[in-house]
Amino acid sequence: MPEGPSIVILKEEARGLVGRRIVAVEGNTRIDKERLVGQRIVALRSWGKHFLIEMPDFSLRIHFLMFGTYRIDERKEDATPRLGLRFRGGGELNVYTCSVRFVDAPLDQVYDWSGDVMSDLWDAAGARRKLRALPDAWVCDALLDQDVFAGVGNIIKNEVLFRIRLHPLSRVGALPARKLAQMVDEARRYSFEFLAWKKAFVLRKHWLAHTKRTCPRCHIPFVKAHLGRTERRSFFCERCQRLYDR
Ligand SMILES: [Zn+2]
Repeated sequence: MPEGPSIVILKEEARGLVGRRIVAVEGNTRIDKERLVGQRIVALRSWGKHFLIEMPDFSLRIHFLMFGTYRIDERKEDATPRLGLRFRGGGELNVYTCSVRFVDAPLDQVYDWSGDVMSDLWDAAGARRKLRALPDAWVCDALLDQDVFAGVGNIIKNEVLFRIRLHPLSRVGALPARKLAQMVDEARRYSFEFLAWKKAFVLRKHWLAHTKRTCPRCHIPFVKAHLGRTERRSFFCERCQRLYDR
């Protein structure tokens, strides 16, 4: 699943489309495609895992779900895009296996940018406040909670918990204040490392826990389990990742 940093990369790769006018639309989405013809792209934005195409009177929200992909100025062979935008003077954007919706309200009304781990407006104190309101949540679920950490996905979750030596089934309410702050800070720090490594095509090489079999600190096997309410894959070390429970 594309996590927040991957959407930031898409936004950068597609920035040449800003200011361009849509002349044709195709794809198997059920939204009213005709509404897009003639529209000019005002801005490309992102909030967590949402890619947002802003036009003068409305926006498009694209969510890549589990397996979504995109192509800029080219097409996938043998695949129908969910949505394909063609621009005046050439150029196209095609998105596949994703959810596409119109957003009619201004994006600044719809989105709280301070909750996006990649945003310049990220508010760490706000994230700590939201976490303190979820004392019974497991940390593995809290990190994936898009209301708290928009953009954090399963890779970032596993890497953050390993880096700060925190067991995924720790309860948020049982964390000392400094551990809670460390989780918030590391979620953002690691997201930017993810961005830099992904741009350099070396992201996997830097995984310490995600999909790994052995703890690089203790040299014992990692536990692999589908944990939490979200039941997403967790890779963790029972020796060096401390369980905070009550
Ligand atoms: Zn370990």
